[in-house]
Amino acid sequence: HLQVLKESAALPAVTKDGKEILLFGNIGKAEDASHACHLGAEGIGLFRTEFLYMKNDELPSEDMQFEVYKKAVGRLGGRPVIIRTMDIGGDKELKCLQLPKEMNPFLGYRAIRISLDRTDIFKTQIRAILRASAFGEAQIMYPMIASVEEIKAANAVVETAKEELRAEGIAFNEDIQIGIMVEIPAVAVAAELFTPHVDFFSIGTNDLCQYTLAVDRMNENIGHLYQPLHPAVLRLIKHTIWASHEAKQITGMCGEMAGDPVAAMILLGLGLDEFSMSASAIPVVKNIVRSVTIEECKAVAEKALTMSTATEIVAYAKTVLAEKG
Ligand code: PEP
Ligand code: MG
Repeated sequence: HLQVLKESAALPAVTKDGKEILLFGNIGKAEDASHACHLGAEGIGLFRTEFLYMKNDELPSEDMQFEVYKKAVGRLGGRPVIIRTMDIGGDKELKCLQLPKEMNPFLGYRAIRISLDRTDIFKTQIRAILRASAFGEAQIMYPMIASVEEIKAANAVVETAKEELRAEGIAFNEDIQIGIMVEIPAVAVAAELFTPHVDFFSIGTNDLCQYTLAVDRMNENIGHLYQPLHPAVLRLIKHTIWASHEAKQITGMCGEMAGDPVAAMILLGLGLDEFSMSASAIPVVKNIVRSVTIEECKAVAEKALTMSTATEIVAYAKTVLAEKG
């Protein structure tokens, strides 16, 4: 089994008609980067930084964060590590930060909304990421973006941090790539308005699905209503990818859907460029990538888009996948 995984990791993620697909890993700790690489990840598409804020009584210092990010980029040897800025909120108890108890924490004070309110905390994190960018391909990603104003405000903090580092003579990558998570339907619907302000998109299907279908992603009583292959979700994904390609940018996906074999052919057909998933899912998705053509995936995606229910789409996607063997 280990031998099979090792061999798979060495194979390129290229479709039969020659499109290179980026298969990346999701990690929550710098140490997990090596494991992702062993399983074939060619980059880290989502480095969740929440644990830095959850594990201690105090806010993580710039130096402490810098060491963590530097370790992660170091393990990737020049391949991208997309570091998502803090995505915390009232649903989690934090010792380092008093957050208000809220009626609807997933619609509340969280993620980029906290970062733009507490720019002191945010700038500390941005400085740490910028410093790490001198040691590898660190990229920045903002979570829970809903408006262009938020991107502009966040970018202004990045600019300030850059000016400070320049003045202090500290090295960083001047051209660091900055992307956003597309996880609020408003952004997917109006994706073409966001491309001028970013370098890339990464679709967060866990939240995109939750917000599009108004289904709490944690609530087991309504788990059956949580349908990533819902026709509306597929349309949002399609439009997001279309807008990014119009702007000559790429779209990745770092929600669970990216690692779902049943969704893979449809996503390839919609033009998804980068799939980021838990490391263990990479070999299976790579196997699918290597056994299909983009042409046939486009036909599958087109047919899926004619269907009016997730149930039909899932059944259809499973059938075409089974035919692939
Ligand atoms: C997502 O929403 O799809 C995502 C990847 O972010 P998280 O699961 O951390 O909310
Ligand atoms: Mg999310």
